[in-house]
Amino acid sequence: MKNGDGLRAVLWVSGCEHACPGCQNPVTWNPEDGLLFDEKAREELFEILGRDYISGLTLSGGDPLYPGNREDILSLLKEVKEAFPDKTVWCYTGYLYDDVKSLPHMEYIDVLVDGKYVEALADKQYKWAGSTNQKVYDLHSKTVII
Ligand code: SF4
Repeated sequence: MKNGDGLRAVLWVSGCEHACPGCQNPVTWNPEDGLLFDEKAREELFEILGRDYISGLTLSGGDPLYPGNREDILSLLKEVKEAFPDKTVWCYTGYLYDDVKSLPHMEYIDVLVDGKYVEALADKQYKWAGSTNQKVYDLHSKTVII
């Protein structure tokens, strides 16, 4: 519920090169860590996404757009959007929107939350992100939600 609009399935992806001081998930930095996203995990994720009360998928981490993740994440995005065209996909990334806006992934992502976590700008009341420098982009209207 804290990782986007509605009740969502969230996939935390290993691999992140941003090294933000105060990061809540440093265990996800090493791309070799974590559990393998195998066929069983994929089936579990799709089963959850198929439930009526699930609004969609949120990709977090780590960084789903870490270069080593991009190919696999793009394949997953295509599969999810084909199977669940009416559900939304949110993606959290430490990169700025301007740095990733030309990636093919953007075609399959509805909402992008961008930017590194900045401890000095941390705000627990800030909806959907940890620090106020991070922006929430509606990629359909190309507008900033917050
Ligand atoms: S981008 Fe996210 S996961 Fe990566 S170091 Fe920053 S806060 Fe941690």
